[in-house]
Amino acid sequence: QALNDFLDLKGNIRVLCRIRPMAPREEIFLLQGSVVAGDSNNVFLKLGESKSKRYSFDTVFHPGSSQGYAKFVEKKENFHEIDFLARDEEVFSEVEPVIKSALDGYNACIFAYGQTGTGKTFTMEGKDNCPGVVPRAIEALFKQAEDSNHAFLFTFSMLEIYMGNLRDLLVPQMKKSMNPMPPCLTIKTDPKGGIEIENLIAIRVNDFNQAKRLYVLGNRLRSTASTNSNATSSRSHCLTRITMTFIHALERHRETNKIWMIDLGGSERVLKTKTRGKRFDEGKAINLSLSALGDVISALQRRRSHIPYRNSKLTQVLRDSLGEDSKTLMLVHVSPKEEDLCETVCSLGFATRVK
Ligand code: ADP
Ligand code: MG
Repeated sequence: QALNDFLDLKGNIRVLCRIRPMAPREEIFLLQGSVVAGDSNNVFLKLGESKSKRYSFDTVFHPGSSQGYAKFVEKKENFHEIDFLARDEEVFSEVEPVIKSALDGYNACIFAYGQTGTGKTFTMEGKDNCPGVVPRAIEALFKQAEDSNHAFLFTFSMLEIYMGNLRDLLVPQMKKSMNPMPPCLTIKTDPKGGIEIENLIAIRVNDFNQAKRLYVLGNRLRSTASTNSNATSSRSHCLTRITMTFIHALERHRETNKIWMIDLGGSERVLKTKTRGKRFDEGKAINLSLSALGDVISALQRRRSHIPYRNSKLTQVLRDSLGEDSKTLMLVHVSPKEEDLCETVCSLGFATRVK
């Protein structure tokens, strides 16, 4: 209960910003100084010699924020490393309450938003030695379910939205000669506002390893499908869904909630580039669905009576997981580089709009 009060206090929608560190080959830019700076709640953009702009957030993750496990690093002696590693658990500490509320009966969405190359996949998927939000959320989900007195059933699903089409990422892989593109799925709405993705594969998972294995499979199909359609994964949205069914022992009544973890397509604006042809169409589809998502969250935040869910496949799919009884975590990623400043301004603008 205390945790719920705390969550309500924090609001149903939290918007966080993560600044990607300079990659080693980009460090030359550090000589000119990064154009992005921040403290724990603000991002400052250097827009000119004496001009800067401030954006405020629930939390800002510095380039030094990481997502590895703290236990590996406790013994470091160097002060800077301790400072760096003290923030080790930051990203996940924001995710953990969302997992808890999913087990308490809320639907939840965790989004990674940002320009291509700003670390969305790094945050969601992670690397071997520093697992991202999805694997760690699944791990926490099973752990918390085990610690609770209730019985839960979990299923795992994964799909991709590419050019307005939904594709299942858990379809068994056929022989190479067969069409490797998974078939398109359709969305069905019921009068009560619930939605169902017809024929979406949902596999029952009993532990972390089973879910993790499916996640690896889904990611593999995502990259093969991308290569086959000559798209890159940044031109599609990747959605991982866990459903949990809570079985009330006495009432024999079941309740199902879901948690969506979404690696969004790159937010860079295609109209501002010289892109043409297929790339342009892909980019336009992504841009449109991201602005539809922004419109929905912004309308929810402002408690508008009409929420424009119907404007994109993405918001249709998430219809019953974005809103009153749901928790939303929006992780907005930005680049530290000067050449990305325009996109950074746009991403922070989006973040501000949905706040
Ligand atoms: P996106 O999915 O937004 O296109 P990626 O997650 O692929 O971006 O990140 C681009 C590159 O930057 C990758 O090589 C990734 O490992 C690295 N990277 C991103 N964020 C971080 C971070 N916080 N710490 C270390 N490396 C990062
Ligand atoms: Mg990516």
